[in-house]
Amino acid sequence: MKDNKEIISFLKVKGFVFPGSEIYGGLANSWDYGPLGALLKDNIKNLWKSFFIDQQPNTFHFDSSIMLNKKVWEVSGHLAKFVDPMIDCKECKIRYRADFFIEEHFEKNPDSMSFEEMSELIHSMDCPSCKKNNWTDVRIFNLMFKFDNSKLGEGDEIYLRPETAQGIFINFLNIINSINPKLPFGIGQVGKAFRNEVTPGNFIFRTKEFEQLELEYFTTKNGEEVAFDHYIGLIDIFLEKVGLSKNNFRKQDIAKESLAHYSSRTIDYEYNFPFGWGELLGLANRRQFDLSIHSGSKLGMRDSQTNEFIVPSVIETSFGVERLFYAIISEAYTKEDVDGEERIVLKLPFKIAPYKAAVTPLTNKLDNEAQTLFNELLEQEIGPITYVTSGSIGKRYRKQDAIGTPFVITYDFDALEDNSVTIRHRDTMKQARVLIKDIKTYILNNAK
Ligand code: ATP
Repeated sequence: MKDNKEIISFLKVKGFVFPGSEIYGGLANSWDYGPLGALLKDNIKNLWKSFFIDQQPNTFHFDSSIMLNKKVWEVSGHLAKFVDPMIDCKECKIRYRADFFIEEHFEKNPDSMSFEEMSELIHSMDCPSCKKNNWTDVRIFNLMFKFDNSKLGEGDEIYLRPETAQGIFINFLNIINSINPKLPFGIGQVGKAFRNEVTPGNFIFRTKEFEQLELEYFTTKNGEEVAFDHYIGLIDIFLEKVGLSKNNFRKQDIAKESLAHYSSRTIDYEYNFPFGWGELLGLANRRQFDLSIHSGSKLGMRDSQTNEFIVPSVIETSFGVERLFYAIISEAYTKEDVDGEERIVLKLPFKIAPYKAAVTPLTNKLDNEAQTLFNELLEQEIGPITYVTSGSIGKRYRKQDAIGTPFVITYDFDALEDNSVTIRHRDTMKQARVLIKDIKTYILNNAK
């Protein structure tokens, strides 16, 4: 297993992820994405959009508001059911998720337990932190952030969305009436979600503010199983595309008694993060639940084959951007021994790498020529590229290896004569001589 602390500190030093509000002493479990992290995050989102929306038939983009009418959350069941059980140690004030506590310390399934049963079980044990036995009872805690939307500061409460999906469901008729899709069809969106988690933590794995990549696939009742299996196949391909190896993720078919209230089948995909196994994404058969509950306005459509008016079923794929980011980095972070020296390489797929290439002059005397080449390459739209000058050429290579840049283009004195440059590959460290006019083609042909 890779060293979590080392990865977190590496990500800060290299400009990927910084602790949130750091100069004011920080804000617990909040993180900011630096110049490289912001690029990497965007690449992940773009790859997801391109694979799950643009490359799939009958699948469309969406972008709904973060703030919705509070009726949405009343009707969807989030106000009553989007809750976690918590318990506090009255001595040391540590708060635990009661269900996680029971799983970890009693190896029992908490899903069918009442709060009284949970309390009784936990009260039988001392607090693992202070070793005293002075617990509160198990209480529920709604995960939605409530805030005041009125000008006078009272009364008009609304909630920050805890998932992006409802924004799609409540717009179902607008979608049908505007673009007239035929079943089956998909609507995908990327956006922020907020949850007042009882126990946030594990770096960017569980935060109160995060981003989701959600795809709602609408189909007929008979089509549910086929669509579910279809998405299992797509998810496998996508996980491979972003560089996650099969032995680092596992699929958990959720037992009937543990399913969320809206789901008839859910598979949680778990990844082997540096801190242990954790959910990366969920695939759920939400059936007709969502469109039926918002049914004041009859959320349905005509099935083009039978001409019957039906309420479609929904198969949902829901990824977290930050969890994908964390998994991709953990997988890519590699240490190698090169002639007795340690080399850190971020073996990111080309499409995900923050910079696609770096341009550097062999010596500072060639700075003008190398800068001119850099400016020309910027216009060729290879993707983000960077210009580097400081340190020896060997150190420059190592720095680019560490931030995952797949190619380094070195402008040397021969270039003045033969209009060629040396291109070095990150993973193999092999070098090739390439004509300046062919750089873009060479990079795109060799991108992995
Ligand atoms: P968990 O069991 O870990 O709390 P969940 O089952 O509540 O997750 P979902 O409601 O299925 O999560 O949300 C879909 C996806 O959104 C998750 O698979 C995860 O990738 C992401 N996600 C959910 N909560 C968080 C969070 N607090 N921080 C970061 N990502 C999250």
